[in-house]
Amino acid sequence: MTAPEIPAVPVRLARRPIVGGLVVPWITARTPEGRYRFGAVDHHRHVRALQDRLCQTCGDELDTARIVFAMRDSDLPLLVSPEPGMHPVCAAYSASGCPMLAGRMSHYRTTPLAAQLTEADATFHGDPTGTRPAAPAERWHLLWATGYRAFTNPLTGQRAAMVLPDQILRIRPIGPPPPLCPADHAPDSETGPESTPGPERSSS
Ligand SMILES: [Zn+2]
Repeated sequence: MTAPEIPAVPVRLARRPIVGGLVVPWITARTPEGRYRFGAVDHHRHVRALQDRLCQTCGDELDTARIVFAMRDSDLPLLVSPEPGMHPVCAAYSASGCPMLAGRMSHYRTTPLAAQLTEADATFHGDPTGTRPAAPAERWHLLWATGYRAFTNPLTGQRAAMVLPDQILRIRPIGPPPPLCPADHAPDSETGPESTPGPERSSS
């Protein structure tokens, strides 16, 4: 068995570099010195992935029959993903390997890996603008779709993916509810798009 916070790397991701035991997503930005910045998204790759239907994790073309998006509670009502899609296998890896997606950041905060990622400003799957800081209370979901439309989100000015209701194959919450938000974040519905207001739209 692999340690729970270090999932096995799927074949599709075998060519990707690995830092701290985790695959570095294709979309991850780098510093001028070439170091990976886990909290930051490469803007050019972000746009290109959305436009050319590339997987944000491995960088290869998506199979348009099954595209997986990672969406937060606040993304679901709009069916808009600020991030590009993923292959099912890449999404499964991200869901188990990414501390934010798996909702385990607080749980593992004291481990060297998480500490390292936190230090590296790790909000994997953060948005490219940095305007949506990691919100531990928000739950992540995987959404399987048969397609999407790339558009410029008027709320953010950023390119994003819009999924139509009839393109949705299924929606599944990732992992257990985040451990650090027991009472003040009542889960009224797991996937109910209408019931969840976006909790933090920063007005600054
Ligand atoms: Zn992929």
